[in-house]
Order: sequence, then structure tokens, then C-alpha cells
Amino acid sequence: MSAAEFLPQRKSLSALREAADGCRGCHLYQHATQTVFGEGPKSARIMLVGEMAGDREDREGRPFVGPAGRELDRALEAAGIDRGDVYVTNVVKHFKFEERGKRRIHQTPRKGEVDACMPWLDTEIKLIRPRGLVTLGATAAKALLGSSFRLTQHRGELLESDLAPVVAATIHPSAIVRQRDSEAREAERLALADDLRTVMEAV
Ligand code: SF4
Repeated sequence: MSAAEFLPQRKSLSALREAADGCRGCHLYQHATQTVFGEGPKSARIMLVGEMAGDREDREGRPFVGPAGRELDRALEAAGIDRGDVYVTNVVKHFKFEERGKRRIHQTPRKGEVDACMPWLDTEIKLIRPRGLVTLGATAAKALLGSSFRLTQHRGELLESDLAPVVAATIHPSAIVRQRDSEAREAERLALADDLRTVMEAV
């Protein structure tokens, strides 16, 4: 099974979003609240690709609206990037979690789940045809740049790729939220904004 069976005939963003609502391409739809599809204008010059919806995103049905989304907004602003010029999405469109008491704890999607969901992202990239594409976090980097890609070695570099004229990989903004103290958070904030600025200057 994969999402490929659920792709609509008509390849438009709205048709895609609607079809993704009913995707049963893997088991992850069973416990999640809803599909969290990408968001942003078709004319976006920059596409940002994260791993997967989080708890808040799952409830609201929109990508990057929780604490990581706030960090992303902050980094975009610091990098001088207008959110209206950006399309944000995730590799995996349903939230994967483990319940601990009342809390839902994020679980990293497995390769099989990532592969099953890729037809949505592949089609989003084809439709948007961004000038710049940035992967956020290791899962998105490996999904789009290959399983041997090492984020720690190539973070913030401009990479050769068929995905878009300008491609780079950086951390997921949730990594900022997870830092232990405000000094470490601030350092990661500056580094994320720097990586996004590098892309912005190149597109
Ligand atoms: S995670 Fe992706 S492939 Fe799996 S059901 Fe959701 S949209 Fe379909």
C-alpha cells in the first residue's frame, strides 16, 4: 500500500489536498485526527519540508502551527523571508504518536511509512516547482536527499539536487524547543535563521 493509489487524476493543489484527506496509504491515518497537508501559495519561491505533523498540527489540521511552527516563523522573519512566499509541508501527512497518560508523544516515522507517503510530497514539489527547497530535520533530509545524507555534515550547505535550483538541509525547528537552556535555544535560533538566509540569498 502507498499513497500513490489515492492521488487524484487532476493534479492541482486543491485536488491533491482533498484527496489526501481520504488517504489510507499506510496505517497512520487510523489514530491521527486528520491529514495535515502542505500550506502556502502555488507561486511560493521557497518550499520547506519537515518530518511530520505534531500534536497541535494534528488537532488543527495545519502544518507548523505549534511550538516548532512559532520557531519557524521567527527564523523566517529573522532571515527576511515573507511567509507568503513560502510553502510549508511535511514528508508524512499523519501524526504518529504514542500515548503516555494524557500526552501524545511524537514517534519518528519508519522508512516504510515515509515511502508510503512520498507520492504526496513528490506531487507537491512538481506542482510548486520552488526555486529553493529546504529540508528541516534528518527525516526530511534522508527522504529527499538519500538515506546516506548526513545532516550534521552538510547542514546549511547549498546542495546539488534535481529537487530545485537551490537546495539545502537544516535542523527541524523542534530541535530549538528541545534545547535545555535559553542560551542553547538562542544559538540554534541564529543558526536556523542563517541557513534560511543562505537559501533566500541564493534563490
Ligand atoms: S501517513 Fe501518508 S500514506 Fe499514510 S495514511 Fe497518512 S497520508 Fe496516507
